[in-house]
Amino acid sequence: MKKKSIYTCPYCGEKTFNPLTKALAGGIASKGHACPKCNHHAVNGKACAVISAIIYVIALVVVFYIYFIEKEDNTAYIYMATTIILAFIITRLIYAFAFPLIKVVRNDV
Ligand SMILES: [Zn+2]
Repeated sequence: MKKKSIYTCPYCGEKTFNPLTKALAGGIASKGHACPKCNHHAVNGKACAVISAIIYVIALVVVFYIYFIEKEDNTAYIYMATTIILAFIITRLIYAFAFPLIKVVRNDV
């Protein structure tokens, strides 16, 4: 039996996505990315949403920690910005390399 790829379009069943387009598809609340074959939009599912939420909560805790502990230091702002950028990059990497795509949830696409 052929293993279902995480890059498989949830509409036509063809493997039309790649890590880049899957990352661009975004989370469950986004408009997603169009499948080049059937033109339907696909997004990353609930598991991705949960994990990215956890990552952002951790990032927020780190940012607050830096803000309250290291606020005398000017480099604190650089650390805070880096934390947020890292959280964004990690989320995109999870979108790109983990969990299958699902049909778009929004009804305005
Ligand atoms: Zn498709």
